[in-house]
Amino acid sequence: MTSTLSSSVASLGATPEPSLTPVSLRVRQRLQEAGVSFLANDNIAEHLAEGELEQLEIEVAGKVRELLRSLVIDIDNDHNTEETAERVARMYLHEVFKGRYHHQPKIASFPNVKKLDEIYTVGPISVRSACSHHLVPILGNCWIGIKPGERVIGLSKFSRVADWVFSRPHIQEEAVMILADEIERLCEPQGLAILVKAQHYCMKWRGVKEPQTSMVNSVVRGDFRHDPSLKAEFFELVKQQESLLTT
Ligand SMILES: [Zn+2]
Repeated sequence: MTSTLSSSVASLGATPEPSLTPVSLRVRQRLQEAGVSFLANDNIAEHLAEGELEQLEIEVAGKVRELLRSLVIDIDNDHNTEETAERVARMYLHEVFKGRYHHQPKIASFPNVKKLDEIYTVGPISVRSACSHHLVPILGNCWIGIKPGERVIGLSKFSRVADWVFSRPHIQEEAVMILADEIERLCEPQGLAILVKAQHYCMKWRGVKEPQTSMVNSVVRGDFRHDPSLKAEFFELVKQQESLLTT
């Protein structure tokens, strides 16, 4: 992948007028040539050359400006929306969708020297995402249960990886699966359980306008999947952590 990127970047340097091609098109072509998926909830950070994220910010701001014009908003005279295009571009690329364009935060894992094998849960971890269908917020909480394997990571690291995974356009079911894959990659637990409860602004703000509805889903892997008592223990621990929230 790196060689594909560097060869594309090298050939890009040889192109006489690279600025005539929109940066998003150059990146898309590179991804397609490498056969890399770039769905809304994929991360493409390793396929961006130096400086391209800044160029994308400029391109996206231009497109948002056009969107505002198409919505017949007088951005030339409205002091409130004057710099909205730039703000929205920054927000998408570096905040709410940073999990697509930025590398995973550095997370070190350590050998499980004491051979810990009791389960523990971490939560609630706040998760913020946006639905792939309307790009409106999904806000919720996540609980992670671990039965340690050969390696362990610090508790705060679960928040960091969850934030990185959720900061993309998603559907909740896939977000939970992707988070599970990343945690397995980081610390190879013997068992992993994740529960997410979230409110979808798709349903609260528009559409059926149901303010209280939330979606709950979970994934259980390894020992949590094979051992029903372990799975039950995870959900019991989550319940206890939830009751702490209301007291
Ligand atoms: Zn939606």
